Amino acid sequence: TEFLSDRINLLPQSATLAMNKQSQLLKAQGYDVCDLSIGEPNFPTPLYIQQAAKEAIDSGSYFTYSPVAGYLDLRAAITKKLAKENNIICTPEQIVVSTGAKQSLSNLFLCLLNPGDEVIVYTPYWVSYASIVQLAGGKPIFLKGSKENNYEPTSEQLEQAITNKTKAIIFSSPSNPTGSVLSKSSLMAIAEVLERHKHVLVVADEIYEHINFTDDFTSIGSIASIQDRVVTINGFSKSYAMTGWRVGYLAAPLWIAKACEKIQGQLTSGTCSISQRAALAAFDVDMQVIAEMRAIYKRRRDLAIKGISNLPGVTCNIPLGAFYLFPDISYYFGYTDGEQAIRTAEDFCMYILKEAKVTLVDGAAFGEPNCIRLSYATSDEVIQEAMERMQKALQKLS
Ligand code: PLP
Repeated sequence: TEFLSDRINLLPQSATLAMNKQSQLLKAQGYDVCDLSIGEPNFPTPLYIQQAAKEAIDSGSYFTYSPVAGYLDLRAAITKKLAKENNIICTPEQIVVSTGAKQSLSNLFLCLLNPGDEVIVYTPYWVSYASIVQLAGGKPIFLKGSKENNYEPTSEQLEQAITNKTKAIIFSSPSNPTGSVLSKSSLMAIAEVLERHKHVLVVADEIYEHINFTDDFTSIGSIASIQDRVVTINGFSKSYAMTGWRVGYLAAPLWIAKACEKIQGQLTSGTCSISQRAALAAFDVDMQVIAEMRAIYKRRRDLAIKGISNLPGVTCNIPLGAFYLFPDISYYFGYTDGEQAIRTAEDFCMYILKEAKVTLVDGAAFGEPNCIRLSYATSDEVIQEAMERMQKALQKLS
């Protein structure tokens, strides 16, 4: 590693992908592994979308480089969606389509941050926020919400965290990892604070928008008083079960969208042409298909919550969206299986992996060292089996 840059040497590996790799390794050795580590829908991409991709190939018209910011019809369809579903009014020039929300975030922070600029990260947070901010030279400032408050930091906390170096705040709603959904009143409270701090932008990651078990979803980009400072991140991976197709986008004030287009032009160019045609078709998918997936996720959430409630000492908030549970397992700190003591959430995950062959992710990667994250985006059978195995494994600790 001595020849590598400090940038890469200081970059932590994605904890979720690392755990997923462990799971693949154990599976290759013949173990029956229950994988609750990866945040990936286990549904196929809706047929209608698959068909659109095939038609795009057969037409022979989509084999060349696509425009850097995305096909104009796709960007126009995104603005229509944002107006209709999110009350966000923007033009196609304000949309930059990318190879996934992850790239949209990378583009954005590379465009926004100078060394030492601060980004307030609502904590627990999605693993990549901190790393992307750091890679771009910025400094993540972790603002921790409490379980009792659905992991939402308060207005007072936000007010206190803002300095003259703050460039932006970032959160995901519905949240990975906690499943919290920021209510309209919570978003209004954020807006009210930011009205007093005009140098601060908001980055709202809405990738789990359609996996929301409440009737209410508000986009902070629809709040008039701060509208011109909001960047909305979204994509097709989670809502349409399209993780492998790699299409995401951001909607931003024009000056930010232009900057993101410029950086994408140097780094990756336009997103895969066929994937963009597939993404365009996603907007015509019958909403019933999405509603059915949501109903299945909700059933699995309830199943997972029931399983967790059978684990002595483990407590968990009830997630309102996304497809994760984020239970507090700190009760087991100090317990041992006779060989090794459990001191951290990572030890807990390793013990469960060894004893129960269930993969989980250490909450420390999300900024909360008392918790672990599990994904219930898997079959009912795997959830049930994993819960039973964990219960047995925990009984062996003292
Ligand atoms: N944002 C959040 C909160 C996520 O959980 C994920 C994926 O796990 C992403 C963004 C990345 O999405 P994409 O597949 O569009 O890059």
